[in-house]
Amino acid sequence: MDFISAVELIDKCSQENITISEAMIRREVTLFHIDRDSAIERMAHSYDIMKRAVERALSEELLSMGGLIGGESKKIFDRNSKGKSVCGDILSKAISYAVGVLEVSSSMGLIVAAPTAGSSGVIPGVFLAIQEAFELSDETMTLALFNAGAIGYLITTNATVSGAEAGCQAEVGAASAMAASAVCELMGGTAEQCLDAASTALTNVLGLVCDPIAGLVEAPCQKRNAMGASNALISAEITLGGVRHIIPFDETVEAMYRVGKSMPVELRETAMGGIATTPTGCQLCKNILN
Ligand code: SF4
Repeated sequence: MDFISAVELIDKCSQENITISEAMIRREVTLFHIDRDSAIERMAHSYDIMKRAVERALSEELLSMGGLIGGESKKIFDRNSKGKSVCGDILSKAISYAVGVLEVSSSMGLIVAAPTAGSSGVIPGVFLAIQEAFELSDETMTLALFNAGAIGYLITTNATVSGAEAGCQAEVGAASAMAASAVCELMGGTAEQCLDAASTALTNVLGLVCDPIAGLVEAPCQKRNAMGASNALISAEITLGGVRHIIPFDETVEAMYRVGKSMPVELRETAMGGIATTPTGCQLCKNILN
């Protein structure tokens, strides 16, 4: 059970009448010679780490290595708790959880790099917010992580998830696509819909540059994760509403890679362009280095 494109994945799902998460579980079992329970157990452990990262951000004072971020998750969460959110409960929680995971990551805490440390907030943010809103079990969320994994695997195999190679579109864009697809499956969407949602999410951030201030994965990374979580939910909502994505997933991934390769080196994690080289970005960099 292997697949190297979305076309092959959809074929397998339709031939065997299975979900994307089931196809990914079978792939893991076959390729890594492990039994199904072990594969699921390992994924459950990853989900546990994601949940604990969110809990830490809401309950502890975390300061990032560069001092650019810390405490944002709780501020956003508290405002929503007072009924003041302008985004609604699910989105507000997804945002606060996503930025929280970046606080944990940038203070050298334990996170799951899904697909990278810089984009590690998107999936936990979306998953926990959806789990709470729809009262889903950890087991259900763990299975949905396999769906997200399938999308991440396809992007990694056919393009990249590295900001240094293809900009933030590859990191946060990939995380958005993974989360969007998983949400579709959680809400009863078909395999085709999952891949449509993933395509939409990637398309929405095509061309997004990687420009970390002082070269640290703190800012603008943290807020990009909030945007990535929103992007995932928007893309799932659009698709679940019955709106098709015009460009197939495989072609979208190829386009993202092409755009990434045509980006100047200044906009690919070198901190030599974008927001990193604004006067304030440069001053912050000097302060940190001193
Ligand atoms: S700006 Fe660069 S380092 Fe930060 S999250 Fe995006 S890709 Fe990662």
